[in-house]
Amino acid sequence: MSYRLVCGIETHIELATATKIFCGCATAFGGQPNTRCCPVCTGQPGSLPVLNRRVVEYAIRAGLAVNCTINEVASLDRKNYFYPDLPKAYQISQYDRPICENGCIALDGGKRIRIKRIHIEEDAGKLIHIGGRTLVDYNRCGVPLIEVVTEPDIETPAQAGEYIEKLQAIMRAIGISDCRMQEGSLRCDVNVSVGGEGISSARTEIKNMNSVSQIVRAIEYEYSRQLSVIEGGGRVERATLRFDERTGSTVVMRGKEDSGDYRYFPEPDLPAVLIPRELVAEISACLPELPAARAERYVKELGMDEANARLICRYNAVAVFAERVFSLGADVRTATNLIVGTLYSLLSTEDEREKFDIFVTAEDFAELAELVAGGKIGVTLAQMTLTEMVSSRRPLADFRGRLEGMDENQLEDLCRKAIECNPRAVDDFLSGKEKALSGLFGFIKKQSQGRADIREAERVLRRLLKEKQ
Ligand SMILES: [Zn+2]
Repeated sequence: MSYRLVCGIETHIELATATKIFCGCATAFGGQPNTRCCPVCTGQPGSLPVLNRRVVEYAIRAGLAVNCTINEVASLDRKNYFYPDLPKAYQISQYDRPICENGCIALDGGKRIRIKRIHIEEDAGKLIHIGGRTLVDYNRCGVPLIEVVTEPDIETPAQAGEYIEKLQAIMRAIGISDCRMQEGSLRCDVNVSVGGEGISSARTEIKNMNSVSQIVRAIEYEYSRQLSVIEGGGRVERATLRFDERTGSTVVMRGKEDSGDYRYFPEPDLPAVLIPRELVAEISACLPELPAARAERYVKELGMDEANARLICRYNAVAVFAERVFSLGADVRTATNLIVGTLYSLLSTEDEREKFDIFVTAEDFAELAELVAGGKIGVTLAQMTLTEMVSSRRPLADFRGRLEGMDENQLEDLCRKAIECNPRAVDDFLSGKEKALSGLFGFIKKQSQGRADIREAERVLRRLLKEKQ
């Protein structure tokens, strides 16, 4: 019997509108608890919601960016549930008439993940558990969300990870959300079940995950757990789960609810949303170039290799910076290597790359790349200088002396000095310990204050040491 993973993802994305979905309260992250609320978003009796037009426009933009149809008439519905983070005891969401339907996102291998729908809804507040008590902060209550729901097209945990990264990059490129998973502005619920001929297995839903690696691990775990239940002759129960990061396993939160449990009904305080075709055309005309198209252009027009093009286009801020650097005439290959090699190793988290606060101007960066491409300095020196520019926030002008480099004679003198002053490392190297060379490199770097090109120095050192043998 052959089994396969059947997986779909629901992604909640907080929209970067200035104000909330049904009132004028600010949406900015953080703030003193319960200072960004009003009678509407805290559900006081008699208060009435007014739909924020910008939320509808953002949802349309999102839908168009992932190839959805935009419905002419959409409606808002009440989803009833009782929990302290939601003072109204219902969430205003969309049930049978969402704003967008039937889209898709293509993965790198060509596989398409179909998007069933994108709807708008309000976020709930935040519960804070302290010393056996629970406090509630309603600042997040009424922050606008879109929920992007896929069909169960995902067949491997890796595809799930790639889908989320693609979705994140697209939503950032169109400017509707910062999609910061750590801050919760992009959160995923993942549905997992086992498929295969003659198998009808129940699905489970793993709630509220906020990192790609966590999602990949959770799917791997949950799929193998379900497989072992089925192979042991048991039945997988429908359930809502959470992933325990510490144990790497899923834990049952509650039995899975059906949409019937939520008693959806049309929101009586808000009229249907009519979406004129002119508005859709207008938004469509203003969509920026999307990451996949941009990467394709880099490959075609700039001759960049595909993997690097994707790495650069994954972060909007990086792509904007790279574009400036290229427009200044910098050598594409050198500049690309400095970005995905040096800068990405300095900015190791997703968040740092997306913010891309490097304090290096495109002009300085382009000039540095040109020094390398023109053979004036070695790559190592350029990498080192760039690293120091980023960490010290100093401009290229402060490193001029070093960037003049060393001529062949100066370098040879310095290498001789390194050999003279480090007899132990030299002996070790001559007796076959390759690693001992690094001691000599350290000496040369320090003495030349970074001016020496280490690759060149290695060539000279090896030649001189060979003479000694
Ligand atoms: Zn409010």
